Amino acid sequence: MPIKILESEVVSKIAAGEVVERPASVVKELIENSLDAGATEIAVEARGGGVELIKVSDNGAGIPASELELAFHRYATSKIGDLDDLEKISSLGFRGEALPSIAAVAEVEILTQTPSAPMGSYMNLRKGEVVRKESRARPPGTTVTVRRLFRYFPARLKFLKSVSTENSHIAHLLSQYALAFPEVRFSLILDKRTSLRTTGNGDLREVVSEVYGPELAQRMLNMNRKDDLAEVSGLISPPSLARSNRNLLSFFVNRRWVRSPLLTRAIEEAYRGLLMDGQHPIAVIDISLPTQELDVNIHPAKAQVKFCHEQAVFSSVQKAAEQALARTPVASPKAVPFSPGSGQWQSPRMIMDNEPKFVVSQLPTLELPLLRVLGQIADTYIIAEGPDGLYLIDQHAAHERILYDRILAQWSQKKVEVQGLLQPVTIELSPGEEETLRASKEFLTEFGFTIEPFGNRSYVIRAMPALMARANIIEIITALLDSLASKASPNPWEEKIAQSLACHGAIRGGQQLSNEEMRELINQLEQTRQPRACPHGRPTMIHLSSHQLEKEFGRIS
Ligand code: ADP
Ligand code: MG
Repeated sequence: MPIKILESEVVSKIAAGEVVERPASVVKELIENSLDAGATEIAVEARGGGVELIKVSDNGAGIPASELELAFHRYATSKIGDLDDLEKISSLGFRGEALPSIAAVAEVEILTQTPSAPMGSYMNLRKGEVVRKESRARPPGTTVTVRRLFRYFPARLKFLKSVSTENSHIAHLLSQYALAFPEVRFSLILDKRTSLRTTGNGDLREVVSEVYGPELAQRMLNMNRKDDLAEVSGLISPPSLARSNRNLLSFFVNRRWVRSPLLTRAIEEAYRGLLMDGQHPIAVIDISLPTQELDVNIHPAKAQVKFCHEQAVFSSVQKAAEQALARTPVASPKAVPFSPGSGQWQSPRMIMDNEPKFVVSQLPTLELPLLRVLGQIADTYIIAEGPDGLYLIDQHAAHERILYDRILAQWSQKKVEVQGLLQPVTIELSPGEEETLRASKEFLTEFGFTIEPFGNRSYVIRAMPALMARANIIEIITALLDSLASKASPNPWEEKIAQSLACHGAIRGGQQLSNEEMRELINQLEQTRQPRACPHGRPTMIHLSSHQLEKEFGRIS
């Protein structure tokens, strides 16, 4: 279809799009145009977090010289024509807004050639106006170069984060498109470093290996299911590969990268009972269904879709995941010992009578009374008696508080105990994680980590904080990078680090403790600044006073 300006009745039905929010939004729109143009090779380059330069080259269909100027008009598109088309969109773009919106906030150059034309065309725009237009040759395809984004929009520039944060958004975006289109060869160069490169040979597992590392890729499970309405395919993690957040859940609907609470719930439903609380699966899932079953015109950045038959889609995804999981042996979640050196994992449930009645702590604080440990409930809560009633202590929250205080104390006194690893551990990072690591390396060193690049997105961990010595180092590093990258928490970085380390270093719920270990835990808890709350502010314990007990049992009224 040639490029045409949409009729106003169509325009009025289009969900208004504010497409250029940050550099990654420019990259997203340009990549989508390349994919819509049938490109099999897409090269992206960005400098200065994308503010200085973004360049996207493809080998797609190109734009005829006669239509090039029109492409930069608002609502000019070759992808839909009338209202009917809006009901069955199969392209990624359809609003004709991206090129004009980008040209309005940056300097844009475009060089494009269709396979049939003898010559290509070049155009340069500033503040949305064409300042130069001429014929120029290039192989079939299109290159769009965007410079000085938001230069005349200081208010927008101010909202951008650091170069490394913007880079990590771009890297994350590229990895998602690479996962959605394994048959397309993608490359990403960030500030002259190659951040991602895929072969485009159509093998999803190979792209997962590029993005998340070969080990993870190798362990992912195939999923494939075709129901009346939808076909679901992709890769999902075995329960033993879980992550502490949902960052590695990627959903594509007809190859469009979407965020969808519905799909997230469907997949998590399939893992119910297989993962510990707070753990989430890793998944790369494409759902394909007829275009009329879907409304893609509901979100400004086209990042959400509405299904006509939500329940059917939900159930297809859930069943597809359940089938994939049913084909693997279920591994039980691994436990992390909490107290280095204590080592004996016996399982007495109640304290014997000949043991001391009270735990005497060296430094009893006013905060906690002396507690006598009675036993453990559900391998998760310690039950203890105090002078005034019953205490239920959440072992994970309590240990988190202990570690958090110690980590911050060691750091602020510049006395971080470091533990060298006898066998260095290697870790593979995604492009986004790599950017975060680059930006936060100094902080991590202050907290006792020695992490060195090992080429090809691998890193060697040679040392870690001694307090963490018994925990899973890879899990700790990935959780740490997630938390440092997240803008959700306003905490200063040292608190983010301490919180994340404490959370992942702490003993889990579901782990049996010996009496000795329980007593030691409470002993250590008593010495913290804030024994009654974990670093996230949740309670570490519930107290049922003698008075409450008497009331509950009707002994007093
Ligand atoms: P939309 O993608 O919604 O149609 P855009 O403003 O992104 O709107 O692009 C306008 C038009 O320019 C597209 O419809 C398409 O015809 C053309 N176009 C843009 N980028 C490319 C590209 N990389 N290759 C071929 N054609 C392109
Ligand atoms: Mg577009």
